[in-house]
Amino acid sequence: MSNHVHIHVLEIYCRNTQCNVRQCEVLVKNPGDVEDPAEWKCPGCGEPAALHWKRTFQEQREIELKNAISLVNVALYARDFDALIPADVLCYEELPASWKAVRSNGEPELPGVPAKENA
Ligand SMILES: [Zn+2]
Repeated sequence: MSNHVHIHVLEIYCRNTQCNVRQCEVLVKNPGDVEDPAEWKCPGCGEPAALHWKRTFQEQREIELKNAISLVNVALYARDFDALIPADVLCYEELPASWKAVRSNGEPELPGVPAKENA
């Protein structure tokens, strides 16, 4: 994590309707240099690109974790219930207590996960 403390993540969007690029995610080393939208050009057509958002690396990781938890909860709900998925399942902030990581061979742990996580 400490290697990424100064990295920011941003999303740029191409407004050129003739261009096939919609948006790009960019990791920047010097976040102070990203405020001028004129600096951002679409990698597909070279036209100026709009800056959608900018996040710190940590903010981006937190959003990605939330999204991952949401995807797992939706998949588990779909697997376990033959019903439409309630909207609040998308917003669960924790995995079900019964959930645990499993290797593809069925072993109940992931490489690098301390043994206490599997207790
Ligand atoms: Zn473009």
